Amino acid sequence: MVDSEKGSFTLEKVSVTYGKEMAVTDVSLFIPARQVMALIGPSGCGKTTLLRCLNRMNDELGNVTVGGKIILDGVDINSPAVDPVALRTQVGQVFQKPNPFPMSIYDNITFGPRTLGIRKKGELDAIVEDTLKRAALWKEVHKNLKKHAFELSGGQQQRLCIARALATSPECLLMDEPCSALDPISTQLIEDTMEKLKNAVTIVIVTHSMQQASRVSDNTAFMLRESMEEPARLIEVSETEKLFTVPSDPRTEAYITGRFG
Ligand code: ADP
Ligand code: MG
Repeated sequence: MVDSEKGSFTLEKVSVTYGKEMAVTDVSLFIPARQVMALIGPSGCGKTTLLRCLNRMNDELGNVTVGGKIILDGVDINSPAVDPVALRTQVGQVFQKPNPFPMSIYDNITFGPRTLGIRKKGELDAIVEDTLKRAALWKEVHKNLKKHAFELSGGQQQRLCIARALATSPECLLMDEPCSALDPISTQLIEDTMEKLKNAVTIVIVTHSMQQASRVSDNTAFMLRESMEEPARLIEVSETEKLFTVPSDPRTEAYITGRFG
């Protein structure tokens, strides 16, 4: 395998079934390393479902069956040899609602590295500084890293969650509508952060904002559930600029021009 591809995903005919109900079917998609891939589509079209497959968060739900193949760095992430906990240090996640742990800023960030066996204070301090800088939060908090995370604003908490996800040096970051609960200034800071992060990490972002997708992503995948009787499918994936200007599928065009959704 070529090293430059480390951090890329290949999805082959991925389907997801909750209980007996198939939510998503037949998704084949290449997610290039160190670029931003946006997942867009109307509410309920399986964006979160698909995103959760990429670090096996669906495992935690219990009644979920994932079909097809998801390959990360040449490895089928659903094979029995893959430890989902280790996978999640490689493929980090940030949710819609900021969810810092109930502890200090410092302890939030060092939690992951400590479980990986990093104990030296100097090393942990360096991780805290580096990840807070990359998440554009260092300037605001460096004077008081012992502050409880719950005392931060929502936007600061979300940037802390990004720093925490970065602390295990992931190859990929999954972001599920990371700005939808935030003010415009925090949104801007997070979008700027993503631009810088993609030098080092692959980012997959679910967003219901087409404006955000066009600002931050290199490629965009449009998903759609055409009727309640059918599972959702991937309709089109293209370079973002192309998808929003000359989409190849009439359903994509109808969606981006606001005819539904
Ligand atoms: P989106 O993120 O695009 O809004 P979701 O992935 O949340 O869509 O949902 C896709 C479909 O899967 C919906 O029909 C939803 O009801 C169903 N679904 C999502 N999560 C679960 C779950 N934990 N259990 C059962 N069905 C679910
Ligand atoms: Mg969702």
